[in-house]
Amino acid sequence: MTSVVIVEDELDIGDLIALYCRREGWDVSQVCDGADAIDTIRARQPDFIVLDVGLPNKDGFQVCKELRQFSQVPLLFLTARQDEIDRIVGLELGADDYVTKPFSPRELIARIKAILRRGNNLPESKTKAIFGELAIDLERRECKKGDEAISLASQEVLLLEVFLEHQGIALSRQQLLDLAWGEEWVGDARTVDVHVRQLRKKLGDDLPLETVRGHGYRFS
Ligand code: CA
Repeated sequence: MTSVVIVEDELDIGDLIALYCRREGWDVSQVCDGADAIDTIRARQPDFIVLDVGLPNKDGFQVCKELRQFSQVPLLFLTARQDEIDRIVGLELGADDYVTKPFSPRELIARIKAILRRGNNLPESKTKAIFGELAIDLERRECKKGDEAISLASQEVLLLEVFLEHQGIALSRQQLLDLAWGEEWVGDARTVDVHVRQLRKKLGDDLPLETVRGHGYRFS
């Protein structure tokens, strides 16, 4: 599961970002203080950090500088002021992007996703999986049931990718659509059912995909 540490002393802003991150199925830790940030990041080893510049005890720049001595984790700064933006850009602090307050949480999430995609690469465990007789290898876009190779449509691959990244989490049809096809895609959430039916038919009972009534699906 993708894990995110949010460092923001304004609680309502931190909570809002956390809410949107959780809606993506991400694991979220929140920190309100610059001095605690490094300890939390060391302990959690997150995949991504959202870091406010103006923090008590230790500002975001200082946190970033210390962090970069032991980690190259992608990082996005939150900033309220033009002079802070100049420093982020000018000092090459090792930030991947920044967002100015006030911001749209949707845009923030889109930026995070873009950075995660760019940086890459899902770890191996998220592109390969074995369930009973079934072997899934999304990097090679192939599935095998025993010795039989099964071909998948590209939409089925996208959906499987989302399931593997969000194992154990119940996702609604709308979340599945947004995650697999992107939020720009307009269509009926029931489309997901059609593709799930295809996946079940092709991959059989070893596919650990449960229907969550009145909600969507969970991959376990
Ligand atoms: Ca602040």
